[in-house]
Amino acid sequence: MNFENNSQNVEVYDNIDITRIIAEKIQQRKKSAPFYVCDLGEIFKKYLLWTSSLPRIKPFYAVKANCSPNVLKTLADLGVNFDCASTNEIHKVLSFGVHSSRIIYAHTVKAPESIQYANEVDVKLMTFDNAEELQKMKKLCPNVRATLRIKSDAKKALVKYGSKFGCDVETEAATLIHLARALDVDLVGVSFHVGSECEDLEAFDKAIKLAHTVFQLAKLQGYSFSILDIGGGFPGNNNELFKKIARQINDALDYYFPNESVQVIAEPGCFFVNSSSILACNVLSKKFGVNSKWIYYINDGLFGSFNRDYFFNVPITVYPLKKYPKSEVYSSTIFGVTCASDDKLCSDVSLPVLEIGDWLLFDNKGAYCLSSCTSFNGFCAPDVCYIIDL
Ligand SMILES: *Cc1c(COP(=O)(O)O)cnc(C)c1O
Repeated sequence: MNFENNSQNVEVYDNIDITRIIAEKIQQRKKSAPFYVCDLGEIFKKYLLWTSSLPRIKPFYAVKANCSPNVLKTLADLGVNFDCASTNEIHKVLSFGVHSSRIIYAHTVKAPESIQYANEVDVKLMTFDNAEELQKMKKLCPNVRATLRIKSDAKKALVKYGSKFGCDVETEAATLIHLARALDVDLVGVSFHVGSECEDLEAFDKAIKLAHTVFQLAKLQGYSFSILDIGGGFPGNNNELFKKIARQINDALDYYFPNESVQVIAEPGCFFVNSSSILACNVLSKKFGVNSKWIYYINDGLFGSFNRDYFFNVPITVYPLKKYPKSEVYSSTIFGVTCASDDKLCSDVSLPVLEIGDWLLFDNKGAYCLSSCTSFNGFCAPDVCYIIDL
């Protein structure tokens, strides 16, 4: 892999414990600002897991999960394709020399200028879920290759999309296909997203079955679909669950789409990047609370790297970098760095009595953390130290 034209440095380590690397970084950096350590080797391992578990499915990485140049470059060089949702994301991916045919513009709501831009740079594969969007796409990108996004939410997932995206298969799909026919749109397939960090083993089977009915509906109107896009939703830090889900998907594909002429693609975001990154934060202040609890104030928070955790109630796991005796832990509260009083990470976490200047580590922070940091109160997104730990 060639990172030469990249402003972001990558250091290679030979199987060194990650906490040792973090300690070394702290020494070098000589400052208390929070930072990430992102192991690009972990992304490579995820790629191998994907290809061995889902050999028939071409991944289009969802750029919104983590759009750092090093991450995009790593995935591009591995031959992974991309799911973009905006002009900027498309521009960024193309700037790495990725061919436009490797991009799906997978947002069902697109600004007219963005469709024009996609048309100009030859990104033709796009999703839609309503008549207005389809008309807009046909007008501004006459050779669009459209996939119809259908609704099929998992029973259990961290984030569900059905209330915002996807048409209802029973009541809307046939009409939309009919409109596509009338507008002479090159309708090529079906997309769905069962929900992020899906924990429902049957969700993909159900959605693939539903997609199959849409393929049949399209056939009745003279379309021969060639693309099935099974979206994202794959767990980012539970490889055993991922393998179970992969088996379900493979079985469903064998049953409903045995014909290999249907190209199956997916849009994993979290899966590729979540386990790649650890966040290190510094304890800036502390006090003993009224209810005899230690309260710590750290230098990142809900308006920064913990934005998504707060939105979706992701439980926070944290541990100190320094070795403390395991027996002496107390229920503690951690507040984030801004002046907002609700910038609180957790209120009942077991920690030893920390000292000012101690470092706290948070695992599995590679997806939707850096990409959703705001600069509220003047606190900016943390730096990232890129490594490959062989
Ligand atoms: C966010 C998103 C994804 C990625 O979802 P993950 O759950 O992170 O895999 C894929 N496709 C679309 C359309 C999305 O909005």
